[in-house]
Amino acid sequence: MKKLIVAIDGPSGSGKGVLAQKLSEIFHLAYLDTGLLYRAVAYKLLQNRSSLGKITEALKIAQNLKPEDLCIPALRADKVASFASKIASSMDVRTALLKFQTDFIKNALITDQGVILDGRDIGTKVLPEARFKIFLTANLEVRAQRRHKELQDRGIKSIYSDVLEDMRERDRRDCERDESPLIPAQDAYVIDTSAMQINEVVDHVVRYISKRSGATG
Ligand code: C5P
Repeated sequence: MKKLIVAIDGPSGSGKGVLAQKLSEIFHLAYLDTGLLYRAVAYKLLQNRSSLGKITEALKIAQNLKPEDLCIPALRADKVASFASKIASSMDVRTALLKFQTDFIKNALITDQGVILDGRDIGTKVLPEARFKIFLTANLEVRAQRRHKELQDRGIKSIYSDVLEDMRERDRRDCERDESPLIPAQDAYVIDTSAMQINEVVDHVVRYISKRSGATG
């Protein structure tokens, strides 16, 4: 049977991570959250107290990244995400991390029923051949509210206006950079999740993929 290849992109708070995780379980796909790669490089740099100027160090870290580096809970912190989006504008770092992603895809297509990656440039750069490209979006205020609630639910102190400003800044960096900016691929299916619950998004995309691929969820 033909392998299922799925690319999910979108800004933070759009629901892409939950969607990708659920689809990977439903369709038995190997899943890579590519944001973790950029976060892991940022985290190691922060640990080494490196400034952004030390892009050669970032490159070295990116070239030597191991799957176990992606399992650190501290990668989820907003400070790490913000630093990650600065590093993500470096073409050299992106090229090194692209190698990690293509190696993952090659292996997954041998061992699994297919592969799903989520990030910012999956449909445009990493998996341009993907059969399914989903681009999730939602307005900034809704995404910031989701993130604010998520932090509060986890017992982390959060100020809505700070979350909103951080997200606006990160969106700007991700959308305006020259290298692999956040944009939907021409053949992506764009879904605005502003007025949707995440389970509705998942159901909708499961039906969309099942109908067109013959795969069943
Ligand atoms: O998806 P996540 O919020 O974990 O990503 C953190 C940062 O990593 C993003 O803001 C973006 O700058 C960068 N990133 C990227 N390309 C990807 C995934 C993440 O540039 N494919």
